[in-house]
Amino acid sequence: MQQRQNTPMARPPSHFRSSHFYNRGRRVFPAGVTRVTVDREPTPLYIARGEGAHVIDVDGNRFLDLNNNFTTLIHGHGFLPVADAVGDLLHRGTCFSNPTEHEIALAELLIERIPALEHVRFVNSGTEAVMFAIKAARAYTGRPGVVRIEGAYHGAYDWAEAGQSGSPVSWGPESKPVTVAAYHGMPSSVISDVAVTRFNDIAGLTRLLDEVGHRTACILIDPMPSRAGLLAPRPDFMAAVQSLARQHGLLVVADEVLNLRQSYRGASARYGLHPDLIACGKIIGGGFPVGAIGGSRDVMTVFANDKGRPLLPQGGTFSANPVSMVAGRIAMEAMTEEAFEALDAFGEAIRASLREEIDRTGASFSVTGAASLFRIHPKKTEPVDFRSGYPNGAESAVSKALCDHFLQNGILLPNGAAACLSTAMTASDADTIVNTFATFLSSPFVHGLEAAQ
Ligand code: PMP
Repeated sequence: MQQRQNTPMARPPSHFRSSHFYNRGRRVFPAGVTRVTVDREPTPLYIARGEGAHVIDVDGNRFLDLNNNFTTLIHGHGFLPVADAVGDLLHRGTCFSNPTEHEIALAELLIERIPALEHVRFVNSGTEAVMFAIKAARAYTGRPGVVRIEGAYHGAYDWAEAGQSGSPVSWGPESKPVTVAAYHGMPSSVISDVAVTRFNDIAGLTRLLDEVGHRTACILIDPMPSRAGLLAPRPDFMAAVQSLARQHGLLVVADEVLNLRQSYRGASARYGLHPDLIACGKIIGGGFPVGAIGGSRDVMTVFANDKGRPLLPQGGTFSANPVSMVAGRIAMEAMTEEAFEALDAFGEAIRASLREEIDRTGASFSVTGAASLFRIHPKKTEPVDFRSGYPNGAESAVSKALCDHFLQNGILLPNGAAACLSTAMTASDADTIVNTFATFLSSPFVHGLEAAQ
């Protein structure tokens, strides 16, 4: 990768019009925004349009987008094949109280690619997909409980989000992590149904299941939990999840809402996990709202009503709407095996170059991730679980400074420095990313930190 270090820092972007919209937004939305995740200092950036790998905000600033709507847009913005097909569809009706051929076509594509899928149901978001996967596991096993990984994000269903937060003051001992409430007032009955274990901790999972396995419906696991640190799964941990689930008669639910983008066959297949159910979302909607639950015919029978009322009824006003189905199919068709491999190689080259910069400067950073995802941790040692990835106060300040530096240099790096690539990006975008990181490492801010250590 071409090195152009010490490039002068770009002129800080003006936020005049974004601030204006933010003030308007504050009059109609709590905290001025409709999603907690879009907040940014000093103002959220209001976007005027997206163009491939870039977004242009209402002040005319152009940014390389490393967020891609929270990893949804695998082809970046305004992907023409999707835009054309959806444009065509808009004139012919966008939602019906009837099935369409489009939902079958997307389901066929997913089933053909993803080994664990024999039957699929569509919903409208990742949250819903995880929710129905958990409910399906309950309906199948007749048990209420969920075992999940400490710190991992699985959307907003109560039983999926209990245990997603936590900090050194609340998370309890390593040997017995506490299920921390996700919001003030979360029912204690939910918390008592959810048990947490640390990622990559086989002994911890074994102990936990000995205790709660008999009342647990499923182990809910994202093979590379991103919010917990975009952590690399240890193969023996994946194998243990599998065998302990069998031993205790419960299901493995893989949350691939985000990580399906890791390969043509998804993330579980990449890491040797054989889930009973997979929750999907994001990329399979081609930029439109979507979710899917899939698994073996046997487990998915809980949704079937061939013989009367299903064990688990599932509907949804917008579920399987033709817009999401067509956009998703077209976006996914463009992701051939070769396209996934190319994106993977692109990500690997960026991760390698970022690590080279770290090695060259000896700075206290590490890089995790795979395929089209990377995360820069302000930590010398690569984290293996939520706790080792949890930034202390000083590290959070470094991470924020890193994101600010990227922003000043025309790159939207999401909070927590977790980035997502798209097929719209080029080698020159990769250079921009690596060079911007290099200039951060050589900045007085980082030098001050190293000197203080
Ligand atoms: N699971 C994971 C792993 C996710 O990353 C997300 C979204 N970031 C969700 C579930 C929830 O998906 P949605 O925002 O579409 O409800």
